[in-house]
Amino acid sequence: MRELFDKVLGAYLGLAIGDALGATVEFMRPREIVIQYGVHREIIGGGWLKLARGQVTDDTTMSLALGGALLQGGTHALGLHARGDDTLVHSIGQAFVQWLQGKPVDCGNTCRRGILRYLHEHTLAGPYNPGDAGNGALMRNLPVVLATLGDDAAFARLSIAQAHLTHHHPLSDAATLGMGQLLRLLLHGAEHCECRHWCDLWITQNPAFGFTPYRGHATAYVVDTVQTVLHFLMLHEDFEAALVATVNQGDDADTTGALVGMLAGARCGASRLPQRWLHRLQPATVQAITDQTSGLLALAQTVKEDAHV
Ligand code: MN
Ligand code: MN
Repeated sequence: MRELFDKVLGAYLGLAIGDALGATVEFMRPREIVIQYGVHREIIGGGWLKLARGQVTDDTTMSLALGGALLQGGTHALGLHARGDDTLVHSIGQAFVQWLQGKPVDCGNTCRRGILRYLHEHTLAGPYNPGDAGNGALMRNLPVVLATLGDDAAFARLSIAQAHLTHHHPLSDAATLGMGQLLRLLLHGAEHCECRHWCDLWITQNPAFGFTPYRGHATAYVVDTVQTVLHFLMLHEDFEAALVATVNQGDDADTTGALVGMLAGARCGASRLPQRWLHRLQPATVQAITDQTSGLLALAQTVKEDAHV
């Protein structure tokens, strides 16, 4: 249990570290990064959002909003006998509305459009939209993975439900489920070769995400995002090496960074995250993440017991 807690905390803190590190070079080209920073490897803030040192962006704060809604819904809502889901997804929608009204430092266009639709129409999903293949639903799904660790069906159902609040596209769905499955594997201690095997199988089923040879695109298009994340995650077994290589690819660097940070953080655990990065995060962020980690794991335990009744 202590090992699981360390891995879960490593994933959530890794997400925030990747977000804070990557945000400095978001929307830059690799060549521009080299000119300005050489190799970008320190959490220094700045970037197009003019962040404070250690400040995180929507990738982390939307995850916290989602995690907060899950915790507020509690075991009751998370009993997740499919009929109970709607109430919970509404409370996630409301949490996103509150998050947006709190004037977050950034918000993707598709997320904004979906949240405003929820605010005005109270619908849990928009119609299928070919423009919804961005990475915004994928980037925030960590709390769902944690809360449903013991229940495969609830994991799949709730991942898609929270995704559809803002993104309604099969590639977004596939990526959200796929990266969630990989995270679950890593939290359960999967070795490198097991992950490699999972990737091979998943790419056979979802060929769009094939990442060998790596094309070098790191945009917010969910296919580019996932290719980048899997390429660098599998290339470097070390957390720092994987994350530095990822964010120096530029473009949607905070989000590719957040996702690699999450997966590599689950792989190594919180106790092995680079201390200098951890200490650069804002204390309120670390506190919120640590609190949610305990809460979501406790929730997972009750969901699991429920699923086995
Ligand atoms: Mn962001
Ligand atoms: Mn981003």
